[in-house]
Amino acid sequence: MSLLGLMQKRSLLISGLLTHAATYHGDVEIVSHLYGGEERRSNWRTVAKRASQLAHALPSLDVGEGDRVATLAWNTDRHLELYYAVAGVGSVLHTVNPRLFPEQIAYILNHAADGVVFFDLDFGDLLVKLAPQLTSVKKYVALCRPDQMPALDLPNLHCYESLLAPQPDQYEWPALDEETASSMCYTSGTTGNPKGVLYSHRSTLLHSFGICATDGLALCARDSVLLSVPMFHVNAWGIPYASAMCGAKLVLPGSGLTGDRLYAHMVKEGCTFSLGVPTVWLSLFQYIEQNAKQLDLQSLKLKRVVVGGSAAPRAMIEKFENLLGVFVIQAWGMTETSPVATVANLLPKHQGIDLQTRFDVQARQGRAIFGVEVAVFGAEGQRLPHDGQSVGEIRVRGPWVLSGYFGNEAGSALDAQGWFSTGDVAYIDPDGFVQITDRSKDVIKSGGEWISSIDLENAAVGHPSVQEAAVIGVAHSKWQERPLLIVIKKPNQDVTPEELLAYLSERVARWWLPDDVVFVDELPHTATGKLLKTKLRERFKDFKLSTDKA
Ligand code: ADP
Repeated sequence: MSLLGLMQKRSLLISGLLTHAATYHGDVEIVSHLYGGEERRSNWRTVAKRASQLAHALPSLDVGEGDRVATLAWNTDRHLELYYAVAGVGSVLHTVNPRLFPEQIAYILNHAADGVVFFDLDFGDLLVKLAPQLTSVKKYVALCRPDQMPALDLPNLHCYESLLAPQPDQYEWPALDEETASSMCYTSGTTGNPKGVLYSHRSTLLHSFGICATDGLALCARDSVLLSVPMFHVNAWGIPYASAMCGAKLVLPGSGLTGDRLYAHMVKEGCTFSLGVPTVWLSLFQYIEQNAKQLDLQSLKLKRVVVGGSAAPRAMIEKFENLLGVFVIQAWGMTETSPVATVANLLPKHQGIDLQTRFDVQARQGRAIFGVEVAVFGAEGQRLPHDGQSVGEIRVRGPWVLSGYFGNEAGSALDAQGWFSTGDVAYIDPDGFVQITDRSKDVIKSGGEWISSIDLENAAVGHPSVQEAAVIGVAHSKWQERPLLIVIKKPNQDVTPEELLAYLSERVARWWLPDDVVFVDELPHTATGKLLKTKLRERFKDFKLSTDKA
């Protein structure tokens, strides 16, 4: 018979993170940029006090244990207070992505059966329009002061600051079971309806340990973090929790994710660490390049930047290093994996390697961090070797990977061995580095072989005249599908299709070369800033490739 250990069985709780941060990092600042351009300076002690006040106010909004509370909100200290108060009392914070289509927002609010919506003032009009379709929402709370209260035609409309003001600033957080649900996010549903992923206190805490670990994202008390990933996008990749765990300073940019504002915050707040999707960084570099003469790049303290959500192009990794001296940490994951699953940190064998080889390592999606098992499977469900060439579907399992979608009668989302199929196609090299080559639905199948749209896009954005690039498969009578390259040029730059193809021919296999190049002014993106390939495929479905003579 096994012998049980004699250690304390204390739950891993989100309230514990906040109490720790308030006790040991109370003076560490939380800087927010609020509606209307107001800057507010709070700290972990104040966040804990105000989260306590909010916790006291929640019963007056009929929020009880297990109830879902929605937010339509930007990155601010109020949103952070909601993260802690709602989860702390045993309710569930449902962060809704306001960039989704209105019908999807209504669907999500109804599906989650949210009783209350806390919203930033930008979303008041949207909610007025949606309110008649919302079946469960009974109360609305505007995230503002009483003097900012908008005149909106919403039932039971409350003011956030008025709710908090009369409440005591100490709260006895309940000793919940650590498996209790704490927050939820819906996948953006580029195909089909969005699906709800329900995180627990335990999964959130374990994920936070992973983020703070040196070979995770190495977040620590010396960091000043510019949170340029929205708090409605997979819990801002777990940073609001992990920052409390280690006592990092947080800079919350509100709705302003433009290059000029990000740059200004980085300088003013001495940011050492930031994270975001590639499109955010494109706008930062656009600003830096356009204002190179006036900017003193030496005034930046930025050291590490996490790029995820889409593949980090090698050219971006190089630019961060060469222009700003910043080390890019590529990370891969998804809503269903909390999200951090693999991280591209260096191994002992990479110490002292030349920069170009190092960039190659960073351009991969990285290695599994402890807590997430990652494996590649072939078409017949067989496990493929980590040989750097066997391409298949990535499956994952671990304590911060989902087991089933919220309210999904189908039950488990896992196979018999507990693996979750990610829909990402990849290979793993002998060192364990994952290289994502595509989403399974975006793979280009040409003459029985697969062409990686991600590799082609990354190569194309390396060209100095290219702002953004997308590659999709277009029907071809002989080859089944062939790649089409769709490009946005940088302002005031010119390049011809022939020049681009010549550039690519030095970087990818010859048979991968796109058959045609099309220039556009805009590319469609999902609500989380990814290329919306479904829309592109629809737009170019009748495109006749010049190589297709049929
Ligand atoms: P959505 O944006 O669709 O709501 P997620 O944020 O969960 O959903 O997106 C997860 C997907 O994003 C992954 O399955 C993968 O395809 C893609 N992704 C995330 N990080 C990376 C990365 N570093 N490189 C390539 N693809 C990535």
